[in-house]
Amino acid sequence: MELDIGTIIVATGYDQFNPSLKPEYGYDLYENVITGLEFERLSTASGPTGGKIEIEGKEPKDVVFISCVGSRDKQVGNEYCSRVCCMYIAKQAQLVKEHIPDANITVFYTDVRAFGKGYEAFYARVQREGVKYIRGNAAEVYKKKKGGKIIVKGEDTLLGKVVEIEADLVILATGMVPSKDADKIVNLLKLPKDPDNFLLEAHPKLRPVDTVIDGVFLAGCCQSPKDIPDTVSQAKAAALCAVAKMAKGKVENEPIVAVVDESLCRGCGRCIQTCEFDAIEAKEIREGFLFVAHSNEARCKGCGACSVVCPSSAITMNHFTDNQILAMVRAPFVEV
Ligand SMILES: Cc1cc2nc3c(=O)[nH]c(=O)nc-3n(C[C@H](O)[C@H](O)[C@H](O)COP(=O)(O)OP(=O)(O)OC[C@H]3O[C@@H](n4cnc5c(N)ncnc54)[C@H](O)[C@@H]3O)c2cc1C
Repeated sequence: MELDIGTIIVATGYDQFNPSLKPEYGYDLYENVITGLEFERLSTASGPTGGKIEIEGKEPKDVVFISCVGSRDKQVGNEYCSRVCCMYIAKQAQLVKEHIPDANITVFYTDVRAFGKGYEAFYARVQREGVKYIRGNAAEVYKKKKGGKIIVKGEDTLLGKVVEIEADLVILATGMVPSKDADKIVNLLKLPKDPDNFLLEAHPKLRPVDTVIDGVFLAGCCQSPKDIPDTVSQAKAAALCAVAKMAKGKVENEPIVAVVDESLCRGCGRCIQTCEFDAIEAKEIREGFLFVAHSNEARCKGCGACSVVCPSSAITMNHFTDNQILAMVRAPFVEV
């Protein structure tokens, strides 16, 4: 479909961390090691068991959650916190308790980050309801003998001892990673990414839903891991920014943009390769003969990168010509 549009909100979400990259947790070996997202499906009324929490046809009596699988983990290259796992573990643990009141539920955690409104109270409540939290990373999931129960081994760092817990079901709280599906649109729109590969906002505090490309906004986990309330808030902000721009009916260009002096341009194309915003293109000035650079004022962000690489000084920034800058440099120093 071809649509005539004024603004774009990118809301391409996240992918789950691939648990096979942590082979010590046995995701590829054992049927009863599943991810948090698979548990969501298992426990939903429209899921394969009609909402009953069953694994291999039986209700699990010993359930272990492992937090931070693929988050806060230098080994796999994801140093960031996925923000939602601590609370979805608490939610899922409570769900298991509700369905199977005599279940033994253990959570291996790194730190519990119950940061949102009412989250700390909810975390305290699931502990009161009997969910046991062990502070420490689980080291491995294995079976002692064929047909036996799986065992989760880890260190209780508060007691300073190694613990081994038998489990009928292990739930890996896999973190969020940037969406692969998003790459096509991200490349198309030339959106920059942050060091963790999520999409970069124009300013973390003052322009958190804008991108550096005018008229393109961000919402949700494409920008960084977040829960539903934060996603909804950001989506509403992005929608309002988009509507405000369109309601105005026109856009104002940056006053400082690149200007090409065609008589000086040699058509080397270095500026085209350098411009991050696709604001410079080649223009044929005589039929089949000479190409020179031409700047698109609507796209230009006035960063000046093209001006710096131009070997023939054919590009200057509007209101910041070389002569103006040199005049400022040479101006006599006046003490105030
Ligand atoms: C196991 C688990 C449990 C959770 N439980 C909770 C909870 O209880 N409470 C809570 O607040 N949060 C929870 N979360 C977090 C919640 O999932 C996210 O906050 C929320 O999904 C973020 O919404 P989003 O729209 O940014 O991304 P998504 O939900 O990922 O939606 C993005 C959508 O964009 C689509 N898409 C991607 N690329 C393209 C493209 N190029 N073109 C068109 N479409 C595209 C995707 O297919 C997807 O449908 C949980 C997360 C997990 C992993």
